[in-house]
Amino acid sequence: MADLTKLTASGLAGKIASGEATAVEVTEAHLARIDAVDEKVHAFLHVDREGALAQARAVDDKRARGEKLGPLAGVPLALKDIFTTKGVPTTVGSKILEGWIPPYDATLVTRLKAADVVILGKTNMDEFAMGSSTENSAFGPTGNPWDLTRIPGGSGGGSSASLASFQAPLAIGTDTGGSIRQPAAVTGTVGVKPTYGGVSRYGMVAFSSSLDQGGPCARTVLDAALLHEAIAGHDPLDSTSIDAPVPPVVEAARNGSVRGMRVGVVKEFAGEGYQAGVMQRFNESVELLRELGAEVVELSCPSFDKALAAYYLIAPSECSSNLARFDGLRYGLRTGDDGSRSAEDVTALTRAAGFGPEVKRRIMLGTYALSSGYYDAYYGSAQKVRTLISRDFQRAFEQVDVLVSPTTPTTAFPIGERVDDPMAMYLADLCTIPSNLAGNAAMSLPCGLAPEDGLPVGLQIVAPAMADDRLYKVGAAVEAAFIDKWGHPLLEEAPSL
Ligand code: GLN
Repeated sequence: MADLTKLTASGLAGKIASGEATAVEVTEAHLARIDAVDEKVHAFLHVDREGALAQARAVDDKRARGEKLGPLAGVPLALKDIFTTKGVPTTVGSKILEGWIPPYDATLVTRLKAADVVILGKTNMDEFAMGSSTENSAFGPTGNPWDLTRIPGGSGGGSSASLASFQAPLAIGTDTGGSIRQPAAVTGTVGVKPTYGGVSRYGMVAFSSSLDQGGPCARTVLDAALLHEAIAGHDPLDSTSIDAPVPPVVEAARNGSVRGMRVGVVKEFAGEGYQAGVMQRFNESVELLRELGAEVVELSCPSFDKALAAYYLIAPSECSSNLARFDGLRYGLRTGDDGSRSAEDVTALTRAAGFGPEVKRRIMLGTYALSSGYYDAYYGSAQKVRTLISRDFQRAFEQVDVLVSPTTPTTAFPIGERVDDPMAMYLADLCTIPSNLAGNAAMSLPCGLAPEDGLPVGLQIVAPAMADDRLYKVGAAVEAAFIDKWGHPLLEEAPSL
């Protein structure tokens, strides 16, 4: 039988539904791949071997009973360790939750299980999803399967690395400022940040509640769409969840086309700091869009220049409030509780021992920005900039159907290069952050390799809120054209581990 780990999710689901392969065989093949390569990659923090095989057996039993299987039944998935999983450890990449076993499933997990998706385990991430390289994980970095000395992006580097190393055909990420799209770009995979409120945040450990959004990661646009449909939709347990039908993303992915569409190129997403090979691939992609029948319009979003500054006030402010619950008293780590200390001292000792440097930096920044006397100057101003950014998008979407840009200014950088330079690290999300601030939908998909280093480059597509289907329509057309022209970078030049 062909190597089951090299197939797409839709291909695997087809084989399982037709009986050509069992879900148990598919799961075992991926577990064997994890055994073979994850020591080098370190995509997983926890592999749930028993749980995965039990889920797979249930799918095979269902088929044997003649029950109809869903479009992803039996397909393995790697889950970012930010979602609570009943009975399975959830760390958020932090020591502060080490050893905690959640008593409930996140809504997204409940939906994956209902769709008969097989959850292989939990993936590595920057602590509390704060970072762009997965180096801020308390459990050590993840390597980029294209070059293990380089970062796989962050914060969801484990999820994207699991795809690029063929340990899983599907993964879940979360995107507060780019953490689905930036790892997708630097690993040659597909990642989608759905419209804010499109996928439930219930059971997703909060970083910055007004920005956080879970979403699909895959190796193809269609696979991402199938996963998107499985996890999206209204959830009464999340008050910010949108109560409206899920945009028809699978239908769009099956009918890729850009003919007659207006595609905007944002002038502000270029210039200093952008790697030459990234711009070259991006410009070729724009040319390709023209060849495919799109009308390309150059436009300006003047407030985007301030997006990074606004984000790094809003996200830390919200995190300083959200992370107050990790007090060493209720759950997770507790340090210094020897009977002689006050609860306050135990909380302080626990937080000092449990949080890493980047998380502490953000809590301090956020607490400062929210303090009386500074609130208007910092948090208040950042919120005003946020409004201006939303207006820029609004104006842009009056002229075009989607926007395109590079996903990241550079390809994967070496592990260690930016870890002591937070500003350099923050720049990795220059192009992704505006969409989080405005709450609209965005995708990254591979657009070839940069000539100077042979590493993957990502093309970002941005659509208005609740027009997530446009991402898939354009993405599928572009993906097919790329494969025609240059082959699939990941499937044909699979990184050798
Ligand atoms: N890199 C950004 C940050 O560090 C975004 C992270 C994310 O999207 N979770 O905050």
